[in-house]
Amino acid sequence: MGRFTAFRFTVDASPSQVVVLARHAGASRFAFNQCLALVKEALDVKRRGVPVVVPWSGFDLINAFNSWKCSARAGRRFVVDAAGSVEVVVTGLSWRAQVCQQVCEEAAVDLGRGLAAWAESRRGKRSGRRVGFPTFKRKARTRPSFRIRCTTKAGRASIRVGDPTAGPRSVCLPRIGVLRVREDTRRLRRMIRTGRAHIRYATVSARAGRWTITVTVQAAALHPARQHPPRPDGGGGWVGVDRGLAALVVAADTTGRQVLRVDDAPRPLRTALPRLRRLSRQVSRKRRGSRNRAEAVARLAQAHHRVANIRRHFLHKVANRLVKTHDRLVLEDLHTAGMLRNRRLAAAISDPGWADLARIIGYQQRWRGGQTTPAPRWYPSTKMCSACATIGPALPLSVRIFRCQECGHTADRDVNAAVNLAVWAEHHHAQTRDPEVRGPVTNASRGDGSGQRPRAGETSPDDGGTLPPRISVTAGTPEKGGVS
Ligand SMILES: [Zn+2]
Repeated sequence: MGRFTAFRFTVDASPSQVVVLARHAGASRFAFNQCLALVKEALDVKRRGVPVVVPWSGFDLINAFNSWKCSARAGRRFVVDAAGSVEVVVTGLSWRAQVCQQVCEEAAVDLGRGLAAWAESRRGKRSGRRVGFPTFKRKARTRPSFRIRCTTKAGRASIRVGDPTAGPRSVCLPRIGVLRVREDTRRLRRMIRTGRAHIRYATVSARAGRWTITVTVQAAALHPARQHPPRPDGGGGWVGVDRGLAALVVAADTTGRQVLRVDDAPRPLRTALPRLRRLSRQVSRKRRGSRNRAEAVARLAQAHHRVANIRRHFLHKVANRLVKTHDRLVLEDLHTAGMLRNRRLAAAISDPGWADLARIIGYQQRWRGGQTTPAPRWYPSTKMCSACATIGPALPLSVRIFRCQECGHTADRDVNAAVNLAVWAEHHHAQTRDPEVRGPVTNASRGDGSGQRPRAGETSPDDGGTLPPRISVTAGTPEKGGVS
């Protein structure tokens, strides 16, 4: 079972539970910072020429933190007896018994990942933006969050969803107890009951004053009925997806047929902008550190949260429509970071969430056994004629119709670009690569004997996941018989 997916629930926490959740989030932040302090300390010693082992991997960091928390450096008491002699009693970290220990361990694992990302980025082995050295998490600037691993003892999982004793709308966490959730957990419960999903983690976080719990599961492959039938390894069937400003998405195949056009995408940021401006003005007018300011900040955060929710919901809808009907999609590899430097267009470009759309299409297509490929950034999809492949001059954004100067072919600007993308994929199919896996793509998940009948251990057509996998299990996780 190699598919990670997640289910997100809103927590209906009692006031005392909010205190407990905040304490765990604080412990997570504390452990991360303490581990980072240990690393920096060891690096300093090493720099002075003293041979010392710097804890680096998640596993080493957990051990370093665990030995630190029991040491005198984490807590000690001076006891003076009647004779006046002073004795030091090592207490270790005084509050360590009040939180679930895995929270600290997972924070150490996170730091290990951060350090690895920094090291790889420095050696040039990591794509994307340069990663800096991990920094301390400040309370005011970090979103409260912590993660708990699911362990099984005597056949009983430590994280349970809809426990019979606690009711269907609940999630049970070790040390924290039963958390009521607002949403129905039936789909997840059914997948767990039938062995089609295993809980790996629960991440609890607060955003805009609301606590949510995200249950990450390792799930069986999608039901064959929801997967694309395997294709003989020919080059055909590609659909180009052009992301643009006038229409969020225009998809077309090589014959020039438009298969999807999304004109009416919500622009949540643009709609919310007047309100966001007003709310942020209110924040700046309140005295620093005052209760009024804290409340104004919370209102602004809620407004931003709403923008993000609307955007995400819509992107999932569009991605779903594309991957449901087309098994081979090609998207332009947009250089959004560079485009955002154009200040006049920045808001318009960041509003639709193009990069997110590509990411969602990518993993949803993988789940369905389809293919996604990026066309190179410099491929002239807008300037080229989709009928005779002549490359014309660049089109300003205002020109909506493409007209070829050679053959006189006219088409909608976005349809022309989408067709060009599809044509590109058809020609370069042999070299196509999955944008996320960075390796050749095959319908790998289908495996042997892929028929339309459900097999044991497979998901039924209604068992999806609602979220992309946020966490992947890495070598740093001290889990016996780890998954990959
Ligand atoms: Zn032409």
